[in-house]
Amino acid sequence: MADVASFALDHTAVHAPYIRRIAVETGPRGDAISNFDVRFVQPNAGEIPTAGLHTIEHVLASVLRDHLDGVIDISPFGCRTGFHLITWGEPAVTDVARAVRTGLTAIADEITWDDVPGVDAVSCGNYRDHSLHSAREWSKHILAQGISLDAFARVGV
Ligand code: ZN
Repeated sequence: MADVASFALDHTAVHAPYIRRIAVETGPRGDAISNFDVRFVQPNAGEIPTAGLHTIEHVLASVLRDHLDGVIDISPFGCRTGFHLITWGEPAVTDVARAVRTGLTAIADEITWDDVPGVDAVSCGNYRDHSLHSAREWSKHILAQGISLDAFARVGV
């Protein structure tokens, strides 16, 4: 089976929350695509419940596109400790962290249920499984810990 860069990470060596650039790949026409590890919870020490993670996903899908150029996709890890962020080009980790902080701050302080995008049966594949309360509490918790610019050391927090 193919090697996967994400699985080569020593998950016992990191200090979440952090942003880490996993890889930059270049397509046949020269376009660069970056893959980021947006880690919110220390691996194997906890996980965000599915409903809260789902609501964080919906909000970040919109807010990140407002605050970071080239967003292609942000999707939760199956382990529920964070997200993959895929972008065009090579945005700086500091800029990714700023955009993610903006999204989590909005969830923590501002957003009401009416602001969460795409939470109906037409727009979402499991619209009943959302929790703004959980998303808000986890966002506060992540922001209080600070989002590091380095996976292995607490930088910029
Ligand atoms: Zn959904």
